[in-house]
Amino acid sequence: AHIPSYLSAEHLGPWETFLVQIDRVEPHLSAELRPLTPLLTRPMRALIVNVPIRLDDGEMAHFEGYRVQHNLARGPGKGGIRFHPDVTLAEVMALSAWMTVKNAVVNVPFGGAKGGVRVDPKQLSLAELERLTRRYTSEIHILLGQDKDIPAPDINTNEQVMAWMMDTYSMNEGRTSMGVVTGKPISLGGSLGRKDATGRGVFVSTVEAAKRLGMDINGARVAVQGFGNVGEAAARLFAEAGARVVALQDSSGAIANPSGLDVHAAKAWRQQQGRLSGAPGAETIDADRFWSVEADILVAAAMENQITPAVAERIHARILVEGANGPTTPEADLILQERGITVIPDVLANAGGVTVSYFEWVQDISAFFWTEDEINARLDRIMREAFTAVWDAARAKGIPLRTAAFVLGCERVLLAHKVRGLYP
Ligand code: NDP
Repeated sequence: AHIPSYLSAEHLGPWETFLVQIDRVEPHLSAELRPLTPLLTRPMRALIVNVPIRLDDGEMAHFEGYRVQHNLARGPGKGGIRFHPDVTLAEVMALSAWMTVKNAVVNVPFGGAKGGVRVDPKQLSLAELERLTRRYTSEIHILLGQDKDIPAPDINTNEQVMAWMMDTYSMNEGRTSMGVVTGKPISLGGSLGRKDATGRGVFVSTVEAAKRLGMDINGARVAVQGFGNVGEAAARLFAEAGARVVALQDSSGAIANPSGLDVHAAKAWRQQQGRLSGAPGAETIDADRFWSVEADILVAAAMENQITPAVAERIHARILVEGANGPTTPEADLILQERGITVIPDVLANAGGVTVSYFEWVQDISAFFWTEDEINARLDRIMREAFTAVWDAARAKGIPLRTAAFVLGCERVLLAHKVRGLYP
């Protein structure tokens, strides 16, 4: 009943995961709001666009792009743009839905949206990437605006891509709009602290969990999958806090050192070589061995569906932190629960990025910019408060942190729907 007719059964992907999560949450919602749950199981709006570009050799290429606004009850749409060959409508729908819940968990005044282009950007030159970004931005222009829908970076997009998006939108509008995109360069109204914000939120929420589980971060063994925007910052912050980063993984493979890796050296190697594998001072291990590495804390900061039931059985860590969106399948989630592994769910753990995106938007609109210390202090406070609310609710109701986070977020969204009412 919750599967829209435009989505074919074999391409449900993460959208199905989201629906299972909503099913698990529904019984815990207040009796007053529960009847409104179907509002969450359908995206409000989904735009599919053709993105034709001229390649450097003069040929024309076509790429499929999407922007989905899952829910705008609490404010304008907010969510990243992904460039990846596996992007599908179902994936973008799920990511937009998780944004709805996440924005409500940290109580920033945004709805949930997400976008993407089905492309392997590693096969494009910089000039082709710019043409792709600008054409895609023009095609989804009708949805965008600082009070309508505000994109941000995600997998394979960065501050340069955000600068092109902001410029294209502004050119088409005939005015400069800084607040239409977040994750921009500082020179273009970007916020201090945004680059590290998601990794920082991952770190802060893990510290909060560790405190409650009687675990010391200083000396804890940490393994991080994904070494991009999120994973690199998280690994660096754990190392700075005295943790031992014992394994790292990117799409090229995994590296490990039980005595602790040098995160800065790994980053420098990746910048030179374009991959983590082969980094000096580490053993390059089989990618499959990554999940069974001896670690106290595992950070999943790459993609969806990485933690399958088979992986969940092999994890040694006490805490699994979801830096990525949707890294754990619903079946694996139950196994982790049975095994007593604390899962800090994506809608809480990786909310630091959108929190500082919110700060960036506020700074752009007010044309008044804050110091990095102010930003980090506000971010830390919001993350700690959200963590405490979720943790306390989970303990009080005897439910997993994911369910508690979804209850908190979904109830805020459904309450907004209730007071706004249906139109007409
Ligand atoms: P990046 O593109 O910057 O980094 C992704 C990293 O994951 C890269 O190191 C990539 O390796 C690695 N990776 C990709 N596929 C695999 C795989 N199959 N196995 C192992 N590693 C893999 O993306 P982000 O860091 O921005 O995003 C990562 C996750 O975090 C996504 O789920 C995203 O939605 C989520 N997120 C991001 C936010 C942000 O602020 N950027 C905010 C909230 C959530 P390689 O480079 O070799 O391809």
